[in-house]
Amino acid sequence: MTAKLSPLLSRLTNFCWLFLPPLLFFSVLYGFYFFNTELLLSWIVNLWWMSYASLAIAAIIAWQFGRSRLVYACLLLLLIAANKELTLTPELFEVRYSGILFGFVFLLYSKDKGFSALNLCFSLTVLVMLFVLSWLAIPHILLVSQPWLTSLDSLLFQLSADIRSLLTPFNAMLLIIGLLLGLLRLFFKTDNTHNALYFALALSAFMHIYRDAEFALITIVSLACLFCYSVLKDSFTMAFKDELTGIPSRRALMQYVQTLGRKYTVVMSDIDHFKKFNDTYGHDVGDEVLKLVASKLNKVTGGGKTFRFGGEEFIIVFPRKTSAEVLPFVELVRQTIADYDIALRAKPRPAKPKKPLAGKKAPAKKPAKEQIVKVTTSFGVAQRSKEHSDFATIMKQADIALYAAKKAGRNCVKVAKQ
Ligand code: GH3
Ligand code: MG
Ligand code: MG
Repeated sequence: MTAKLSPLLSRLTNFCWLFLPPLLFFSVLYGFYFFNTELLLSWIVNLWWMSYASLAIAAIIAWQFGRSRLVYACLLLLLIAANKELTLTPELFEVRYSGILFGFVFLLYSKDKGFSALNLCFSLTVLVMLFVLSWLAIPHILLVSQPWLTSLDSLLFQLSADIRSLLTPFNAMLLIIGLLLGLLRLFFKTDNTHNALYFALALSAFMHIYRDAEFALITIVSLACLFCYSVLKDSFTMAFKDELTGIPSRRALMQYVQTLGRKYTVVMSDIDHFKKFNDTYGHDVGDEVLKLVASKLNKVTGGGKTFRFGGEEFIIVFPRKTSAEVLPFVELVRQTIADYDIALRAKPRPAKPKKPLAGKKAPAKKPAKEQIVKVTTSFGVAQRSKEHSDFATIMKQADIALYAAKKAGRNCVKVAKQ
């Protein structure tokens, strides 16, 4: 039960970390806006151009980082920013908003496909089509969906007569569906770009209902900042997290090393006979085992921080600890990995099986229906000392100790002679 609960809990934690900070930010911003409207207005009275400038900056940054969905989202927000300039009739105003809603829902459910001419044409065509569709089809859709819309309309009327007069039932229905589906997707796929798009969808509704130029200005500038933040956060994650295992990468290690003091210990670990494991069960199964070993190493106690160094080698750094002090923690994690029963299930063959890497043998054996296997790891430990004070030398010492552990029969921990 707890095993089933923990992935759900970690998903919920990730979701909260992603969703709550912008929610808090926008709540504070709007609170400030509504309680100090006069003060805020005096600050932003001549800053109408800020919404265009911030959207342009966000679009350029998103474009540079290949985040095509955010560039299209900037275009949709531009349609809201240009409210005064567009001077639409009330009908077209609603149709425009339906198009924006459709557009955001489309972006929430599509992928960043980059800016090749083909993808650009495809996405822009879809967005334009959504507006044309809203314009042409909405009157017909309204007729067909009249029964539910009438009940939604009366519900909205009960909630707030103001909302009812400002948001057509059709747009309200689209918005509710979009928000629910978007939230569901965000929960299962916590991703910074998706989070930013979700806020853009939700806040576009506020801007549409409230119809206030200054309110739209602060919202659009804040959303543009959220877009930039999400691009930078994603890039940071990509650079400092290992893609396969999700633990910090070698680059993160090199940055972490700069923060270490005069006393620390480096542990180098390497999975035993992993090449044979790959040859026996295939590279895909090898990848799963690598993830599992990484997750066990990542849970090392004693204040150790784990990094994937490359291939099936990991580094654990224990700040403010000597070799002797870290040994019990390393022993514990070695034992945990060695004792763990890995259940290999026969999966249906993928539609297009991956080619084996150049020079590597194709998988020789598929796991039987369910097969329990084990892997072991060897560890080399070296601490910073007067003679070995720079990180590269300590790593070398840990590597020598690891080699000694392999020679001693593997699945053991050896400390460098220092
Ligand atoms: P030893 O006990 O001496 O360490 O034997 P070994 O077979 O593990 O030897 P070595 O460490 O040299 O082998 C590294 C192997 O790890 C080669 C490659 O097949 C495998 N490997 C490296 N990176 C990955 C990866 O990302 N995924 C998978 N599946 N295998 C990897
Ligand atoms: Mg190796
Ligand atoms: Mg190995």
